[in-house]
Amino acid sequence: MTLIVQKYGGTSVGTPERIAAVADKVITTRDRGNRVVVVVSAMSGETNRLLALADQISDKPVPRELDVLLATGEQVTIALLSMALEHRGCTARSYTGGQVHILTDSAHNKARIREIEDKRIHADLDAGHVVVVAGFQGVDEHGNITTLGRGGSDTTAVALAAALKADECQIYTDVDGVYTTDPRVVPDARRLHRITFEEMLEMASLGSKVLQIRSVSFAGRYNVPLRVLSSFEEGEGTLITYEDEKMEQALISGIAFNRDEAKLTVIGVPDTPGVAHQLLGPIADANIEVDMIVQNIAPDGATTDFTFTVNRNDYKRALDILTRTATIMGARQVSGDNKIVKVSLVGVGMRSHAGIASTMFGTLAKEGVNIRMISTSEIKISVVVDEKYLELAVRSLHDAFGLSQPPKV
Ligand code: ADP
Ligand code: ASP
Ligand code: MG
Repeated sequence: MTLIVQKYGGTSVGTPERIAAVADKVITTRDRGNRVVVVVSAMSGETNRLLALADQISDKPVPRELDVLLATGEQVTIALLSMALEHRGCTARSYTGGQVHILTDSAHNKARIREIEDKRIHADLDAGHVVVVAGFQGVDEHGNITTLGRGGSDTTAVALAAALKADECQIYTDVDGVYTTDPRVVPDARRLHRITFEEMLEMASLGSKVLQIRSVSFAGRYNVPLRVLSSFEEGEGTLITYEDEKMEQALISGIAFNRDEAKLTVIGVPDTPGVAHQLLGPIADANIEVDMIVQNIAPDGATTDFTFTVNRNDYKRALDILTRTATIMGARQVSGDNKIVKVSLVGVGMRSHAGIASTMFGTLAKEGVNIRMISTSEIKISVVVDEKYLELAVRSLHDAFGLSQPPKV
């Protein structure tokens, strides 16, 4: 018997009617002779609502209690979906993350899964039940409730699929697959039939929120066949897979963007060994992740200018810390900008083709989009631009690389 893990995101379980439709889909899958484990997110908007409530109580809620609060969202949907299944004559068992021992580390609000106990789930499946598990949550070794970071239900689904050795993990969402870019920004973006783990990992890490990045790395590591599909219409969706000869041989497979960016600059720091460490050490100590870094020697040869990006949520804290460090180090000036975005081209085809960067820069120049920072790796090129240019940059690049058309074989 085939074992399938299906995950339904917030919009897919956003109303009682949609939960009923999910129950019908689950039953259809089961009636085709499959064993089914379902992972659900909280109803759309619920996690944000809970975060806003916490914000009204404290501007710095205790992470442990925030997890206790956030985990309630998914507990509502497992119960409602299981009721809907039972109402249709399908026996179902709902479980919170703790109940099926989704054991995580103790990093509240961004915990990592360490282990999943599969016995109970297998016993339920053997007994003919559909198992419904709350996404996004687990427990640490002391029994504290933890959550896995925004979008974490994807990771719950893939981790469960890996632990249960499922035949496929299906991520049902409000788009019918992974597109060349977010179809909400570029309406003529094209759905990809397949994308490699490597490319999907880059897309996710560069801001494409269709899959949480950890779910993709899990799937790649444990070789879980992963598919993104629509909850609302039939279709084959997008398969995330290893590179093979059947892959579409596109130079660029997609464009990702990230609106959660901010950049900080220090000008005129005396250029001595250890400058980068001195500037970034306190930022790291405050648990702030740094993304792009650019350092440039000033024309005087004695000082250096230093720019880096952080998540927009960390901007104020990072600016405070940097201002303090820069003053101690005798820097000339500190500035920041939290109205920037990062736009990235991703594609394994880039490895063997020169000239992609120059087409990218030329396209943006023609549209009058000023590039503030650039960073490249083997399969991606990222630029930082002003927030107001995001749509223009993404659309013009999508056009320039002909991404609406299937690649020529
Ligand atoms: P869910 O609540 O089901 O987890 P998400 O909102 O997390 O759904 O992810 C789906 C959304 O991801 C889509 O509505 C779409 O706007 C966005 N998205 C961003 N980049 C892409 C892409 N390349 N392909 C498809 N969707 C994308
Ligand atoms: N409910 C959580 C969130 O909104 C987890 C998820 O939906 O994947 O981020
Ligand atoms: Mg999601």
